[in-house]
Amino acid sequence: MPKKGKVYLIGAGPGDPGLVTVRARELIEQADVLVYDYLANPKLLDWAGEGAERIYVGKSSGRHSIPQDEIEELLVDRANKGLQVVRLKGGDPFVFGRGGEEVSELETDQVDYEIVPGVTAALAAAAYAGIPLSHRDYSSSITFLTGHENPEKQTLSIDFRSYGSNKGTLCIYMGIGQLARIVGELKEGGMPADMPVAIIEWATLNRQRSIQGTLDTIIEDLERSGLGAPAIVVIGEVVAHRSKTKWFEGRPLFGKRIVVTRAREQAGQLTRMLEENGAEVIELPFIEVKPHFDEKRLTEVLAGIAVYEWIIFTSANGVKTFFDLFYRAYDDIRCLGPMRIAAVGTATAREIEKHKLKVDLVPKKANAGALADQLIEDEGMESVQVLVVTGNQNREELVRRLETEGRAIVDILPLYKTTKTDLSKNPAAERYRKAGADAVLFTSSSTVKSFVEQKSALTLEEGARQPAYGSIGPMTSKTLQELDLPLGFEAAQSSLDHFVVETISHLNTKE
Ligand code: SAH
Repeated sequence: MPKKGKVYLIGAGPGDPGLVTVRARELIEQADVLVYDYLANPKLLDWAGEGAERIYVGKSSGRHSIPQDEIEELLVDRANKGLQVVRLKGGDPFVFGRGGEEVSELETDQVDYEIVPGVTAALAAAAYAGIPLSHRDYSSSITFLTGHENPEKQTLSIDFRSYGSNKGTLCIYMGIGQLARIVGELKEGGMPADMPVAIIEWATLNRQRSIQGTLDTIIEDLERSGLGAPAIVVIGEVVAHRSKTKWFEGRPLFGKRIVVTRAREQAGQLTRMLEENGAEVIELPFIEVKPHFDEKRLTEVLAGIAVYEWIIFTSANGVKTFFDLFYRAYDDIRCLGPMRIAAVGTATAREIEKHKLKVDLVPKKANAGALADQLIEDEGMESVQVLVVTGNQNREELVRRLETEGRAIVDILPLYKTTKTDLSKNPAAERYRKAGADAVLFTSSSTVKSFVEQKSALTLEEGARQPAYGSIGPMTSKTLQELDLPLGFEAAQSSLDHFVVETISHLNTKE
């Protein structure tokens, strides 16, 4: 029986990837095709398989969004080919999301579908701004309204005068462009001029901004703040009862924009740590790491793997690639032999420990020199057979010192290659050029070099924030100096934890 296609209409939530449902994640992971628009966070696409087709149907600079009927045709077409199609829509698909239109098209074409609700923007914006939407003393109704029916149509579709006497909370979607008219009509309808109003832009993302005023002041407040779409306007007494501690906007790196300069595969951890502290992170994939090795050499090394007394890993990437290949050759971890294991730093060690292998040595400072020192001084390497699993960079010093000073017998197994990414068309690079950043964090000398090499794709536009350059340790700082980039700050110890602590302290004392 041919596989039957299906369309999943999924609420992608307000932006923070942590706010989608478990069901949504499951379906994204299994999707053949993903159709998404402007408000669905593109990070959700990372959960999909490599082979999944990704189709952007939202508007982008200089281009109109794809017309609704074409989107509907696309969904039907892919489903009819027997594919599992995920249609991701910001917030909830049935709240001002034209989900109803897509469903009726699917029904007309007899395509199976499923609907997964999402956290709609009004709920998310209120929660992340600390505004209780209902309150026993002040508001016992919540109304969702739209400033206009769709972004292409700039007219008011609702008579807001009739909401002027509303005693509950009003949440207005797509209301920014028409706010002056909305406020005017509410007042005409009898709403008091001192009614509290809040506007929350890009809610739940680390670029969230919010303002608070009254019906009388909000238009001026809005102009002064420079806030724009997408934003939710909340009107009602409850706004005055906003929580005092700003649990979201009050975190130490909130409002800071930080560039992380690592290969995509490795950036996750630092990004997560910065984001948890509230930073908006721009991940610039300067370098790409791809498996790259000589099959014959690999077979030789794996065949004789048990002869090595030490195996040294110089990066988390090397560990990943090594074990992928090792398990292809062997189905028993004991084939590794009784060797001892060294890792250049804690991130590398963590990757090894995933295989339930204890790491015998991690140098206090995460660099190849420190690793060589400790091996030679503490372990005694004379005539010891060593395997260094590495990439195509930064291995010379370690190998040379083990051979000359340590007199070890060293075999090298290069498993991956680090190459440059073209940033001129990369959306993250575009955001950096336009908006700038408070800091650019360098986690290695090679990322500093790529930053300088990619200068033309990274030249800031006028008015963009000028970043401070942060370095994870002395080697990276030295490279910054050599390449004439001013060093803003350096981590007290070469670890991601220390780097984050230093970033927080630098960015909070700078002013
Ligand atoms: N289906 C969506 C709404 C789509 S209409 C939902 O349920 O949330 C688009 C409008 O939603 C935007 O103009 C804005 O008013 C609001 N919106 C969506 N995401 C938002 C966010 N992260 N922060 C503030 N407003 C948002």
